[in-house]
Amino acid sequence: MKEKQGRVVGVNGNMVTVDVDGDVFMNEVGYVATGDQRLKAEVIRIRGHRAELQVFEVTRGIGIGDPVDFSGELLSVQLGPGLLGQIFDGLQNPLPLIAAQHGFFLPRGVYLTALPGDRQWEFTPLAKVGARVSRGMSLGTVPEGIFQHRIMVPFDLYDNYTVKSIAPAGKYTLDSRIAELTDPKGNAVSVTMVFNWPVKRPINAYAERLKPTEPLITKVRIIDSFFPVARGGTYCIPGPFGSGKTVLQQVTSRHAEVDVVVIAACGERAGEVVETLREFPELIDPRTGRALMERTVIICNTSSMPVAAREASVYTAVTIAEYYRQMGLNVLLLADSTSRWAQAMREMSGRLEEIPGEEAFPAYLESVIASFYERAGVVRLKDGGTGSVTIGGTVSPAGGNFEEPVTQATLKVVGAFHGLSRERAESRKYPAIHPLESWSKYPAAVDETMTEFARGLLFRGNEVSQMMKVVGEEGTSLEDFILYLKAEFIDAVFLQQNSFDPVDAAVNTERQRYAFALLTQIIKAQLELADKAAARSFFYQLRQRFLDWNGAAWGSDSFKSIEQDIRSSLGERQAHA
Ligand code: ADP
Ligand code: MG
Repeated sequence: MKEKQGRVVGVNGNMVTVDVDGDVFMNEVGYVATGDQRLKAEVIRIRGHRAELQVFEVTRGIGIGDPVDFSGELLSVQLGPGLLGQIFDGLQNPLPLIAAQHGFFLPRGVYLTALPGDRQWEFTPLAKVGARVSRGMSLGTVPEGIFQHRIMVPFDLYDNYTVKSIAPAGKYTLDSRIAELTDPKGNAVSVTMVFNWPVKRPINAYAERLKPTEPLITKVRIIDSFFPVARGGTYCIPGPFGSGKTVLQQVTSRHAEVDVVVIAACGERAGEVVETLREFPELIDPRTGRALMERTVIICNTSSMPVAAREASVYTAVTIAEYYRQMGLNVLLLADSTSRWAQAMREMSGRLEEIPGEEAFPAYLESVIASFYERAGVVRLKDGGTGSVTIGGTVSPAGGNFEEPVTQATLKVVGAFHGLSRERAESRKYPAIHPLESWSKYPAAVDETMTEFARGLLFRGNEVSQMMKVVGEEGTSLEDFILYLKAEFIDAVFLQQNSFDPVDAAVNTERQRYAFALLTQIIKAQLELADKAAARSFFYQLRQRFLDWNGAAWGSDSFKSIEQDIRSSLGERQAHA
C-alpha cells in the first residue's frame, strides 16, 4: 500500500487541517511530526484532499508544512490479560509507569504500550485440535487477579474456524502464538493473547443481546429499593457541583455486586483525578479483602488535558468493559463526568464550524450519547453463559439545571435517573438522590407495593412541609403533622445512608428488605400521640434508635436488642382498636 502522507495547512486550537496525498478515512489515526515529536491525532472530517484532525495533545509549536503520517488504522485499544489493576489515560498509556519519571502527566508525544510485553502468563488451553471456533470463543485461560481471563478468538476474525494447533499449558508472553486456526478456505491464522479493537466500534462477538432484568445490587438503599439499576442497564446521576456524584460513584465502585469495575474519570478539577490516582490503589475490596484495584481499570483525564483525549477516554473505557463482558463477567462502567466529554464534543464541533444545536452543542449530541449508552447490555455468549456491561454516568449541568441538553439527551436513553438535589446536599442528606424526582424502569429488589406506599407518604409529607412554611406548625393539624414526621423518618433512616460508616455504607438486599419491613410497620401504625410535641419527641427518639440499628452489624447482639427496643416502643404507642 502506498504511504499516506499529508502536510499541515492550518491549526485551530486542537484541530489541524491537513492536505492529504492519498486516501484517508474517518477516525483514522495520524501522527503530526513537529520538531522531534510525533503527536497522535484522529481524522474527524474529510473534504476532498483536506482532512481535519483532532490532536490528542497540546498543539503548541505545530506549524504550516509539518508532515503528517497516516496509520491506516482506527483509534484502537489493546485487549489482553493485564488490563485489570491498571490506570490509563484516554489513549491507554499506563499512567503510573510514567508517573514515577514525569509526575502524573505524560510528556507530549510519548505513547507507551498498554500491556506489559515481557510478562509471562500461565496459559491453560481449553479448545481441542479440530474444534470449530468463532470470534469471541475461548481458546484457553490465564489467571488474572481473582479471575480466569479467557483468551479468545480475536473479535476482528470471522466465524467458523478450525483449531489447527493449540499451545500446551505453560508460560507465555502476550505476543507468543498460542493457537493456529484455519478458516473455511484453509488459510492459516495465528492467534496470540493480545489484539487491537477500534474504540468507537461496539464489540459484537456474542450470540445475542438479552433484556436487562436482574437487579444490580449497589448496596445503596435508595437505589436498590427505590430507583434500582439492572445488570446490563444504564443510569445517570445528574447533580450540581458538590452534590456528591463522585462520592456516590466511589461507594458504588467498591460495593456494587459486579465482577469488574471500569472507571472513566474525566475530572471536574485537575486535583480530583490526582486524588483518585492516589486513593484508589489503597482501597480494599470488601468482597476479597485484597486490593480493589485487582478487579478495577481506571481511565482518567483531567480538565487540563486536551479535549480530544477526554473524548477518547469514554470510548477506551467502554471497549475494555465490553472485552471483560465477553468473558462472562458482570462489568460496571462508571463515567464521571459525561458533561466533560460533551464539552469536548462541543469544542471540536465549534472548531469545525458545524451548525450548532442547543447551547452550542453539536446537533449530533443526542445520537452520540445514545450510542454510548447502547453499548451497555446483557449478552448471551457463543460458548453459553452471559455477561453484562452496566453504564452509570454522572452529568454536571451548570447551576444544577437539568433542562440542559446533556442531561436531557441522557435521560432519553437511560433506564434509571438518580437526580441529585442541591438542597439535600446542602442539608447534608446523603446520598442526595431526590426521592420524588428520580425514577427507574427496572425491577426493585424489595416489594414494590411497599415502596409505592412509602413514596406516597414522602409525597404527602412534602406537601405538608411546604404548607407548614406558610401556615406554620400551629396552622397544621396533628394528623398532617404526624404524616410529615413519618416522611422525615423514612428519609432519615432509610433514604439517607452514611457512606463513611463501615456498616451503613453498604447494605445487602436481605437487610434492606428486613429494615424496610420494620420501617413499613412504623409508618403504617396508628399511633396514640396526644399532641405535636409528643409526636415530635416520639419520632425523634425512634429515629435515634433506628440509626443506631443501621450502624449495628447485621444479626449481632446489639442489632437484636436495638430492634427489640424499637418494636416495644412502637407497641407502647400503637393504638389498639
Ligand atoms: P460532586 O462530584 O457532585 O462535585 P463530591 O462527590 O465531590 O461532589 O462531593 C462533595 C462533598 O460532599 C464531599 O467531599 C463530601 O464532603 C460530601 N459528600 C458527598 N457525598 C457524601 C456522602 N455520601 N456522605 C457524606 N458526605 C458526602
Ligand atoms: Mg465530582
